[in-house]
Amino acid sequence: MSVRSALQKINQELEGSSARLVAVSKTFPSSAIWEAYDADQRIFGESKAQELAEKYASLPKDIEWHFIGHLQTNKVKYIAPFIKLIHSVDSFKLLQAIDKEAAKNERVIDVLLQVHIAQEEAKFGLDESEILAIFADPVYKALNNVRVCGLMGMATNSTDVRLLDKEFLSLADLFSRLKHNIFSHSKGQHFTELSMGMSNDYPLGVKRGATLVRIGSRIFGGRVYAAETKAEN
Ligand SMILES: *Cc1c(COP(=O)(O)O)cnc(C)c1O
Repeated sequence: MSVRSALQKINQELEGSSARLVAVSKTFPSSAIWEAYDADQRIFGESKAQELAEKYASLPKDIEWHFIGHLQTNKVKYIAPFIKLIHSVDSFKLLQAIDKEAAKNERVIDVLLQVHIAQEEAKFGLDESEILAIFADPVYKALNNVRVCGLMGMATNSTDVRLLDKEFLSLADLFSRLKHNIFSHSKGQHFTELSMGMSNDYPLGVKRGATLVRIGSRIFGGRVYAAETKAEN
């Protein structure tokens, strides 16, 4: 299936839902992004800071770039000038590093907190108590250059629909509790995004209220990785 027809099909499925499509172009060359761009896709997701910075430099400036992978604090600087949304904030340290780089660039960067909902230990993400601890911290309250806009989660890599549904439901439930309990104050209007669903499970994410789905292989085909580990990421 061509990139254009894959996009068309997904967009038809998303019609009438609350979800916007993030086309995950990580590991794919700019030519693949151009194909999607020519089919009117404007939101793209990448998971490596330097790769993204290079793509940003050479591609149209009306693209909305989202960062979805594990981000090291010392790499934030590569994307801070232009990134639209960072989905994958998995530590307080990273949130503070993003705030600092955003300040240097005289901007506010929108982020999502990544929640650990999967059974696999290897996946990144915070749990509820860690999130509550961040929100209660005076240091967090003094961050003026990041805006926490919602949550992101990755379900277990499984075909067990009941398990996936349970994980998405738990994320949606945490999202709505945080929205009502924590974000009812002034920072609250922006807590609106729920990023959940990938190529193999996005219909379930959408059903549970996703506002963003991150889809790669279903659009661009299979990825070939150089040996990738948690540490290198
Ligand atoms: C790679 C990746 C995706 C897209 O995965 P596909 O299965 O190709 O759709 C989505 N989210 C995150 C965080 C990713 O790293």
